Amino acid sequence: MIPPRPRRRAPQQTAARYFGAAACLTLLGCAPSTPPMSAAERAALKAELQAPTAAQPSPAVERVGPARAGFGGATVTPVRLALQPGWWLTGALFSPAGAEGSPPEVGVLVAHGHFGQGKSGAEAQEIAWRLAAQGATVLSLDSPGEEEGALPGRQLHLEAGAHGRALLRAGGSSALAVQVTALQRGLDALQALGARRIGATGASGGAVLSMYLALVDPRVQAVVLASPPPIPREGRGGGCLCDQLPGHPGPAPALLASLGVPSLWLLDHRGPPPEGLPRSARVVGSDGPHSYTEEMQAEAQAFFAAELGLDRPEGALAAGERPPAWDLAGPPLPTDSPGLEALPFAPPPAWAPGPADPAAWGSPVVETHCEGNGPVVLLAGVEGEDRAQLSAALRAAGLRACALRVSEDEGAEAEAQLQGRVWAERQAAALAVAAAQQGAAAIYAQRAWGLPAGVVGLPWAWERPICALKDVQPAVDPAWVHTPGAWWGGAAEARCAAQPRRGEDRAALITELRGALLP
Ligand SMILES: [Zn+2]
Repeated sequence: MIPPRPRRRAPQQTAARYFGAAACLTLLGCAPSTPPMSAAERAALKAELQAPTAAQPSPAVERVGPARAGFGGATVTPVRLALQPGWWLTGALFSPAGAEGSPPEVGVLVAHGHFGQGKSGAEAQEIAWRLAAQGATVLSLDSPGEEEGALPGRQLHLEAGAHGRALLRAGGSSALAVQVTALQRGLDALQALGARRIGATGASGGAVLSMYLALVDPRVQAVVLASPPPIPREGRGGGCLCDQLPGHPGPAPALLASLGVPSLWLLDHRGPPPEGLPRSARVVGSDGPHSYTEEMQAEAQAFFAAELGLDRPEGALAAGERPPAWDLAGPPLPTDSPGLEALPFAPPPAWAPGPADPAAWGSPVVETHCEGNGPVVLLAGVEGEDRAQLSAALRAAGLRACALRVSEDEGAEAEAQLQGRVWAERQAAALAVAAAQQGAAAIYAQRAWGLPAGVVGLPWAWERPICALKDVQPAVDPAWVHTPGAWWGGAAEARCAAQPRRGEDRAALITELRGALLP
């Protein structure tokens, strides 16, 4: 007689364990119950998380490579689907054995975190294979800018994504909205593939995205969050700013309390669960690591099996057998694919700067290095050898040149985003500090620094001005160059037109500035 295969954990046993966690949360008062957001707040959140897109694209996925058999009889196929017509997202479609004949009614969407890869990372790929082996259609989506979509104009994550995030905010949207909307296209695709009961999951940043998706889209009927960070992200708490909810600093228990579908929180610690979890939330603590561990995958499988009705326990029992760690990328997107700037923004009114307020930005530390005699001119945004040359030219014109160095603040972007403030105002504040310290009479600004220079109230000149989005060089210019409304409706052009003392001709600009200071 063949001994039965060891079972990992029957769904009913799992449910009993969850009851223990839920009871702690609700019956014994381990956490007070938090009222959810109001209907109006929910509607506002939904609108904020909707990225601007042109006409609704076809929900069909386009298969762009061959299907490969991988794990538990499931196959994987590289696919594309559209965020808007012609704007492709990339992903991998996992299909259980026999899906051709009868499409599964269960679909799961996998969102990735920041583990160095998108859908191909182990934290996204392993759970996708396991759930497909269990009988679900699984769509694992890259966020824009990842894997075969790694184009310069689409980056959203970490330092490389600073320009993309700032551009989206300037247009009245956010990186979080673009990612949530992309995942909603994934839900469209799963439905088009025949899914009727849909779940969402992801680890770390992927958990954040899954939660917001479940909050705003009723098609998600169950959600599993592996190693979730604090949601919403908190001010200077670290992590990628792409999943920060602009204008909403955490913690926000009412936001979590509004999660109306069954959720499984697979913590990477044994501390208390996040404040505000609804009664339907189930919590499992662990000792980490910050990942989507095999143990977390097993919990997720049992949860989805119970909540969505997966009917192939053998998939769940493929323990010990590890899913593949493949490069799931299909052919790269064409290099002339549209970037974030191609989205049809509904921008806010253009930035109308008021007086700079250094205290509001923690009084940025400014160092100046001055040479020469005469009226003081601050050099803003001029670096290296170029700065030495400019300084010499100003001295030759009878002016005192003070080069400027402003302390970096890695938290400034987070603060601007969460507080709904304009990032460039920090630079304006720094310029105001330097101008007061040195008794400056004028500012000579290069490129992006023309934006804050125009706020200080001194005569100024603008070398190599940025008068349109096409003038921005992400490798050279700081991300704060993207100010609200700047690139739409002629706002940047008007800003340039308001400063006639601008151009490429340094000698002419110095002559003009000297004329204003030494009549
Ligand atoms: Zn990110």
